[in-house]
Amino acid sequence: MELVARKELLELLIKEARREKTEICGFLLGKTVGEKLIVEDLRFVSNRLQSPHEFEMEPLEMVEALEEAEGRGLEIVGIFHSHLKCPPKPSPRDLEGMRLWPIVWVIVTPEGEARAWILKENCAEQVKITLLKTREEEG
Ligand SMILES: [Zn+2]
Repeated sequence: MELVARKELLELLIKEARREKTEICGFLLGKTVGEKLIVEDLRFVSNRLQSPHEFEMEPLEMVEALEEAEGRGLEIVGIFHSHLKCPPKPSPRDLEGMRLWPIVWVIVTPEGEARAWILKENCAEQVKITLLKTREEEG
């Protein structure tokens, strides 16, 4: 399994993680092609806990995001959130969330780290992230 995203999308996540004083969260929208999850867009959702060390997505916004994805013909290929003061590894609380949402979880930090995880036999296993060049670089 591999998560493929344009570099600019990941940079946007890191920028937001730096800007916000609470954890950011939301969905990665895209398509599944074989073993690859292709991220095409991001959908930020409010963190209703407004906390710097945990998150919970605002339920109504989650529903809106899911409907929006469906309307655009995109799948939810992952969930993202930020860790402000600890490494980009799933916390015990994240692991509980991963059991409810057994898809890829991306965690970013203000330092610019990004890791993707999936739950395998109750353990978080790392998923490779492949970044595609931004449009400008392709120029
Ligand atoms: Zn977390």
